[in-house]
Amino acid sequence: MKVPDAIERVLLDEETIAARVQELAAQISADYADAEDLVLIGVLKGAFVFLADLARRLTVPHHVDFIALSSYNRGAVSMGAVRLIMDTRASVTGRHVLVVEDIVDTGYTLDYLLRTFRARQPASLRTCVLLNKPERRRIEVPIDYLGFEIPDVWVVGYGLDYADRFRTLPYIAVLKREVYEQRSGGTEN
Ligand code: 5GP
Repeated sequence: MKVPDAIERVLLDEETIAARVQELAAQISADYADAEDLVLIGVLKGAFVFLADLARRLTVPHHVDFIALSSYNRGAVSMGAVRLIMDTRASVTGRHVLVVEDIVDTGYTLDYLLRTFRARQPASLRTCVLLNKPERRRIEVPIDYLGFEIPDVWVVGYGLDYADRFRTLPYIAVLKREVYEQRSGGTEN
């Protein structure tokens, strides 16, 4: 497949991602071996590819649900305010909740999610995050299962977008800086 012109370089290729997702799935399956009712909650849209691959590699029974948020972004710049635009279908009270997120940047989104779910009194609450950009953190958030740490660059592919493009690239790639600095296209989680 041809790499689009807007891409600067591939950061994580398909094989590297698949191997790490398998390791995370094995760890999660071991940790939740005795959990009665595990629910993975994917944060739309960015986590849909990661969640699909992760969930299919789990060897423990689980449910899948989704939540959608909007953060007030301009271009690639997070404005910090998070709003719930679609809630989970089923209640999480008394269940083992694992929040599955594509990337943690400032931390505001995950912090909002954790506060929201904690208030609903789940049996347990943990986070599984594919990518972490620690340099950009503004608020500390716990990441229980992490795929990769990456530098402060804008990445796309494997579910992640820029202006709703590039989500279905099979790898994770760095977008050319001039692409996201010249436009304020907005991103959608
Ligand atoms: P935070 O609230 O931690 O600043 O940002 C989390 C959200 O910002 C992610 O769920 C994702 O939607 C978006 N985001 C942050 N960095 C990137 C990136 O490099 N690429 C993409 N596509 N989205 C990002």
